[in-house]
Amino acid sequence: MNDFLYVDEPRYIFITGGVMSSLGKGLSAACLGALLQARGFSVCIKKLDLYINIDPGTLSPYQHGEVFVTEDGTEADLDLGHYERYTGQNTGKQNYLTAGVVYSNLIQKERRGEYLGVTVQVIPHVTDEIKRFITQDGGLFDFVIIELGGTVGDIEGGPFLEAVRQLRNEFGQPQTMFVHLTYVPNMRATNEQKTKPTQHSVKDLLHAGIQPDLILCRTELTLQESTKRKISLFCNIPPDDVIAAQDETNLYKLPLNYSKEGLDERVCLHFGLSHKRHKISEDWLQKWQVLNASLERPLAEVNVVIVGKYVEMEDSYKSLKEALVHAGGKHKTKVNIKWCNAETTVDIVEALKGAEAIIVPGGFGNRGIENKINAIRYARENNVPFLGICLGMQLAIVEAMRNIGGIEDANSTEFTRDCSPVICLMSEWNDDGGNTVVRSEESDIGGTMRLGAYKCQLLEGSLVEDVYGVSIISERHRHRYEFNSRRFGEKLEQTGTFMVGKSPDGSLVEIVERRDHTWFVGVQFHPEFKSKPLSPHPLFDSLIGKIAKKQFLL
Ligand code: GLN
Repeated sequence: MNDFLYVDEPRYIFITGGVMSSLGKGLSAACLGALLQARGFSVCIKKLDLYINIDPGTLSPYQHGEVFVTEDGTEADLDLGHYERYTGQNTGKQNYLTAGVVYSNLIQKERRGEYLGVTVQVIPHVTDEIKRFITQDGGLFDFVIIELGGTVGDIEGGPFLEAVRQLRNEFGQPQTMFVHLTYVPNMRATNEQKTKPTQHSVKDLLHAGIQPDLILCRTELTLQESTKRKISLFCNIPPDDVIAAQDETNLYKLPLNYSKEGLDERVCLHFGLSHKRHKISEDWLQKWQVLNASLERPLAEVNVVIVGKYVEMEDSYKSLKEALVHAGGKHKTKVNIKWCNAETTVDIVEALKGAEAIIVPGGFGNRGIENKINAIRYARENNVPFLGICLGMQLAIVEAMRNIGGIEDANSTEFTRDCSPVICLMSEWNDDGGNTVVRSEESDIGGTMRLGAYKCQLLEGSLVEDVYGVSIISERHRHRYEFNSRRFGEKLEQTGTFMVGKSPDGSLVEIVERRDHTWFVGVQFHPEFKSKPLSPHPLFDSLIGKIAKKQFLL
């Protein structure tokens, strides 16, 4: 068996989904990526989304959940968050493509006359654009995993399936693999697992010219042997390549579960790689086992209240939720999250009773703002640990200015123009000479949002410097508004809220904290995007550690 890998010969694994959406294709892709890495291979995971939006930046979180932001400022689907959390590897522009980008590129080229008079068509032009994206950095990795968004059979998916079908034809079976994730429902009345939906979705794939090589079956209960055999028979693949993806509440158990079911082994075999030679690293296994042991057998429990706007759809705060789980894992603590809807809650103080920490996460628009401000006041006055993220930091500043600083009309110009503009756009922010301050080209990545990674200098002796253990950090941003520190900085510090993190040139305030409080931090960035299960983000680590420790001492 020739299992020597040449990096200029990437292996492509295409993951499609059948039957219905929300089966966890992103998680499957992320787990497979992590398992291949654990076997010593280099991996890159890409997502193709079928919608016409250029990116999810303009979509309501109710549609597809949170907008995940990468280091380079790409606004992407939340699946990229899964990829980063499981593989520990950063993603970026090269990992995310929507149909909108494909069509927009094509139309721009067409307008520039680059097609030299030919008719621009789905095949070959749209498919070539998709293939170029998939293969552009293939030479750098042993494996490129591509997750196709949507469900097989979706009208928009046609060109994407066609593109990957062509890639199989071009690279051949030894270099490509099709993994199909389906749903196997359980009929409770007869206690029977039904394979028909899987059979139908495989038929849809065949219709597009694609025969899956491996099927992942999402099930509520253990996948029965007879079910496996049936799927094998009707879908034309060996029973060993029908692999269970059983429901699991602890998402960090999934890579281990998949491996137990033989997923990574079968993938190696498909590519002619010896799974015995490329063993899973013991170190990797041990780390994930330790993490799972502490997630499954916690020694303490803490109650965190998140006061947000999109709380009915927990995926809207996916990375935040996971960051809390990561910190909990490290401190052997179960983090119970109570979601508080800032817009509909009538008695916010009542809703916060019992909170051991309060988080006001990022958000846009003025709905629920006053309740969020009141929640911050409650946290400040009652010495309840508080973390304000992005909008949460902006509102912590507004709260201090109003309730301590006596500036009653302090507000963000995002919500009203008729206010003392404590938080405002940079373009509304005048320097001492009355000139409008505009960001330099270097510090702004176009558009009106500050997106992606920016450096931040921490104040010596501050809580956050202690928490991070370094004095310069880099964190990811996604916002338009900033604290108007030139005009209100001094006043803010008089309220006891200190500016402890600033952009390296000192012009932008990135972190505030209070010294008269047990743990009160507001950050202009989104720390949750960088938290990993095996290395929780320092801020969440510190916050959860602080309240968990109190319990251990009791
Ligand atoms: N709406 C605020 C802004 O644009 C905060 C954004 C956020 O919380 N991500 O600045």
